[in-house]
This record gives sequence, C-alpha cells and structure tokens, in this order.
Amino acid sequence: METLGLIGGMSWHSTATYYRIINEVVSAARGGHASAPISLQSLDFDEIRQCQLDGDWERAGELLAEAGRHCVRSGATTVAICTNLMHKVAPQVEAALDVPLLHIGDAVAAEARRQGWQTLGILGTKWVMEESFYADRLATHGVAAVAPDAADRARIDTIVFDELTQGVVTDASRATYVAAIGRLADQGADAVVLACTEIGLLISPEDSPLPLIDSAEVHARELGLAALGQLTASR
Ligand code: GLU
Repeated sequence: METLGLIGGMSWHSTATYYRIINEVVSAARGGHASAPISLQSLDFDEIRQCQLDGDWERAGELLAEAGRHCVRSGATTVAICTNLMHKVAPQVEAALDVPLLHIGDAVAAEARRQGWQTLGILGTKWVMEESFYADRLATHGVAAVAPDAADRARIDTIVFDELTQGVVTDASRATYVAAIGRLADQGADAVVLACTEIGLLISPEDSPLPLIDSAEVHARELGLAALGQLTASR
C-alpha cells in the first residue's frame, strides 16, 4: 500500500475521524488485519489558532509545510491537510512537497458531482465562508457555493472555535446550525457542505433539511482509496 501523510491536530477531534474512516476503507477492501500506512504530524492547534487570530498565515503555512516535509521523509507518497480552513495555505504546502497534496475541496466537489448537486451552501469558519479560496476551488469543478448571511456566519464560526474544536457538542448549537441550513435552502442551495472537519460531530443527515456532504468523511474516503492505490479509478 501507499503511505499517507496527514497534517492533523486541527483539531485532534476531527483527525480522529480521519484516522477511523481511512482505516475503515482499507479494512473493507483488504479484510483481515489490514490497516493504512500513515505518517501523522499532529500539530499543536493552540499555535495554529494563534496564527489565525494574528493573521499570520505565512507562519502557519511554514508550520504546515514543515509537517508535510516530515511526512514525506517518513515515506508518504500522498499528503493531506486535515482541515478546510488551513487549505488557505495549501499553495505554500504544495510548493514545499514533491508528492501530491490531496485537496479537500476536490473531494467535496467530486461528491457534489456524483450526486448531481450544482450549488452547495457552505458551513465552516469565517474565512472559508467569506474568502474566495474555498469557493474558487469548488468552482474549478463547476460547483457553485453560497454562504450564510453575516449573522449566521458569526454564530457558526463562534460555535466551531468555542465548542466543536474543543470537543463540546450541544443541542442548542445543533439547532443553530439546522436553522442556518434552512436559510441556505431558501438561498438556492441543493445541499450543504460541512466545510469544517468537526461539524460532522454535531450534525448528521437526519438533522438536516438539506442533503449534506461531510468534508472530513469524503476527504478521508479518498485518502483511504489513495492508500489502496485506487484513487484515480474512483474519480
Ligand atoms: N477543522 C476546521 C476546518 O476544517 C477548523 C479548524 C482549523 O483548521 O482552524 O476548517
């Protein structure tokens, strides 16, 4: 099998999801004791969060690029950043590596296309909802994005950092997200992308008025296929 390089710990709650799903994909394909060869660089999220708050994306990019280089030195032939937001520095990480970076936006767009959804509502951190780097990546695959209004964006971002990335899941926050999804339906979204890797810990398809794409799930599934050497065949 191919060795995967995971740049994780942002937060560790969602990196645990990646680890489980990747191994489930490999186990389902190979059976027995088969599990994915993984080199995990789990960063201190406190340090990354400070870079976000300081707007120091250069430093964050250096930290992630160095983590990616560690993965490659330990044999990784595919590397992934296990968060949506930190794909803001994906170009810097990609430039530091001589192996492919499997972009989360490509995995999300591939799922939207498989399902025939043309417009996705985006739930994530404020940068993912407000800046163009994420929506632009979806657009390269012909998938459009709509973001919640300013009040919903503020509520959604606060819940990510005050609760979900610290492992806190509440019914009140679930209700806040479900209401925001309802308003995205009114804005013309066919489905919603949980474009923060912890939101799948809060919301499941049965809670939601629109179909969901869980970015952590589809990204981890592609990584499982990459470990098996089957990714190109699936796209
Ligand atoms: N895991 C989150 C995401 O997918 C947010 C945490 C972060 O990377 O800052 O965007």
